[in-house]
Amino acid sequence: MTLLSGPDGPAAEAGWGHEHERKGFFTDTSICIGCKACEVACKEWNRNPIDGNLEILGSSYDNTGELGANTWRHVAFVEQGQERIDQARESGRKLVSLGMPGIGPKSSGTRGALPAGDLSSTDRTPPDTPEFRWLMSSDVCKHCTNAGCLDVCPTGAIFRSEYGSVVVQQDVCNGCGTCVSACPFGVIERRDDGTISPFAHREEKDERMGTASKCTLCYDRLVDGEEPACSATCPTQSITFGDHDDLTADARSRVADLHERGMTEARLYGANPKDGVGGTGSVFLLLDEPEVYGLPPDPQVPTKSLPRTYARAGIAAAGMVAAVALSFLGSRR
Ligand code: SF4
Ligand code: SF4
Ligand code: SF4
Repeated sequence: MTLLSGPDGPAAEAGWGHEHERKGFFTDTSICIGCKACEVACKEWNRNPIDGNLEILGSSYDNTGELGANTWRHVAFVEQGQERIDQARESGRKLVSLGMPGIGPKSSGTRGALPAGDLSSTDRTPPDTPEFRWLMSSDVCKHCTNAGCLDVCPTGAIFRSEYGSVVVQQDVCNGCGTCVSACPFGVIERRDDGTISPFAHREEKDERMGTASKCTLCYDRLVDGEEPACSATCPTQSITFGDHDDLTADARSRVADLHERGMTEARLYGANPKDGVGGTGSVFLLLDEPEVYGLPPDPQVPTKSLPRTYARAGIAAAGMVAAVALSFLGSRR
């Protein structure tokens, strides 16, 4: 597969060398309590305005609904009854029997309430299925290995940082919106004040108005040696920030531990480097299928098919040239 963003270490592919390890998030939704501190910390640090009037949506106790230009972290609340919980546990069990997600060796087990040391004596009986549960999940930009938004940006406003993250320079963005349709996760969005006032008048309003916006992985904090505001704020360590390889290993270990406890619904999202975006910098542990959280089950970077498209266009153009030449030669006889 030929891609505009290479799969072997995105920062190195972008010419940064190996000075920095790839950074990312591991978001363990099994220990999220839905406090939304991450969402608020992100807004506060990035001075992003509120979405709506803090009114509850009606479909759940959520009040922001989705990721967008002003909400770079979004905590989803998903209500589930006993039947759906049973289905999630069963679908997770099937994933394991298929060998997915890959479950690696156990780590020292420092996350959440894991028992320390040998788990061989752990009771593996599935826990009683509750009649009701909340799934809380803090979603964010995936900082894809092969990022569609970055591939298609015509101005170079989106760049790959030395940490492997994908960052928008809003003073370079011209607001064309090409990136919006190239993101398979629906993350990036243009900031909009609800009017169609001319873009040239940007300086009269918020200078970011009309430009594409999304999580920067707190690039401005990383260059100062600080961790992102959202992970630093999370009280349960549901969001952890660090070296991508270490986080992915932790995530696999956590899935293995949950399975040991009978929670076969636990699975990883974004940890497979062979998926349609080459894996993601933001890895998630989910307790149900991705669609339940509003995530695409099989995301594909749209530029993946460009080489094939160009090849077909070339063949078509060559055929047309040949046809014109034949017709020209035929008319001279
Ligand atoms: S999730 Fe979307 S916005 Fe984020 S890096 Fe991937 S393609 Fe770009
Ligand atoms: S890394 Fe920074 S910009 Fe991204 S969601 Fe967290 S606080 Fe917001
Ligand atoms: S991820 Fe952490 S900070 Fe965000 S809602 Fe969950 S527990 Fe709260």
